[in-house]
Amino acid sequence: MKQTDNPYTFITQLFDGLISSGCRSDHDEDTNRKIVVINLFAIVGMSITLVLGIKAVFNEQLTLGIVLLSSATLFGLCKGVLLHSKLKNNHIIAPTLLVLCLLSLMLYLVIFGGVAGTGPLWIFVLPPVAMFFAGVFWGVITVGLFIALCAVILFTPGDALLIASYTHEFKVRLLLSFATVTFLSAFYEHSRQTSFIIIRDISEKFERQALYDALTNLPNRRGIQKFIDHEINRAKRQQEQLTLILCDIDRFKQVNDNYGHDGGDIALKHVADLFKEVIREQDGVARWGGEEFLFVLPTTNESNGVVLAEKIRETLQATPVQIKNTSLTVTASFGVAQIHLENGLNNALSLADKALYRAKEKGRNKVLSASSLTP
Ligand code: GH3
Ligand code: MG
Ligand code: MG
Repeated sequence: MKQTDNPYTFITQLFDGLISSGCRSDHDEDTNRKIVVINLFAIVGMSITLVLGIKAVFNEQLTLGIVLLSSATLFGLCKGVLLHSKLKNNHIIAPTLLVLCLLSLMLYLVIFGGVAGTGPLWIFVLPPVAMFFAGVFWGVITVGLFIALCAVILFTPGDALLIASYTHEFKVRLLLSFATVTFLSAFYEHSRQTSFIIIRDISEKFERQALYDALTNLPNRRGIQKFIDHEINRAKRQQEQLTLILCDIDRFKQVNDNYGHDGGDIALKHVADLFKEVIREQDGVARWGGEEFLFVLPTTNESNGVVLAEKIRETLQATPVQIKNTSLTVTASFGVAQIHLENGLNNALSLADKALYRAKEKGRNKVLSASSLTP
């Protein structure tokens, strides 16, 4: 039996599809979570108002029936808006529609009293929903306006704006308890948003730490991988050339021996800053290992890569670094290899490494290309 033939799987898939319509990969996690809740709320709201509306029509409470059925239609519309995920602002239109629909329904229930005067009990749904969908600021404004409108409706002399009849004590307590729930909902939503921002910032920080080198602020191996994959795919699509330069600082151990590890770190940072400055906008550079760097050069063939590597080598040689009041000239060796897409990335990396090794053998502070290597 196929997995989709299982009725339970079918139902869960259908439910997942219903509540996640409108979620998009380019939305952040909080927006997608809101869309799921909007979907759920629209489905639940539509079902309840539909059932109560049909019941009211059968009980010959025509006005109540029409209001409830109109609300069911509006809830359905919210769901419809979300189903059309191509609408650019569906995650803003749908909740606005939903809160407005809820607001009108609640006002109607307060004025008309609903079934046996129990209608106002439903208004407590409004604060948490408005805060969650509209955020604390707009939520407080929306619910504040609702409280003001209710106060006018409930306390107009002679109950001129009311169809239902409530005692004075009920009206006062209804508004007070509603204001309390509003305050608690605003506070809760504020805490939720603050926690969300803290967690998001922490996870962004960890993500950055995993992808960037703390000393040089350059991407590390893992950090440059996404750029390489993207450029390889682009080169394949557009039949363009892509070249790598592997660079290793010459006699770096001596720098550490002479100036200490901190001095070595200053030199590494100097080299990285210079590399960032000297490359073209479309190029990428990463700290590939200890004192090794990798340049990724889109739309560049091997001979142009050699020209660029030569320019980098000369600039580095001509720009000494100050360590502990001493001016130190740092040099590096370079291996250049074009990525032949049919052979893959690792092949080009290994060729660049071989060329680099040969540059070291030839006395360092040199640029060698993979094609210049004799087999
Ligand atoms: P060659 O010209 O053959 O490349 O010689 P080299 O001395 O540069 O090469 P070797 O591989 O012998 O030494 C590399 C040194 O780089 C050793 C290691 O301690 C140092 N190194 C690696 N990462 C760091 C770092 O983050 N900070 C400092 N200060 N030194 C580092
Ligand atoms: Mg090395
Ligand atoms: Mg070295």
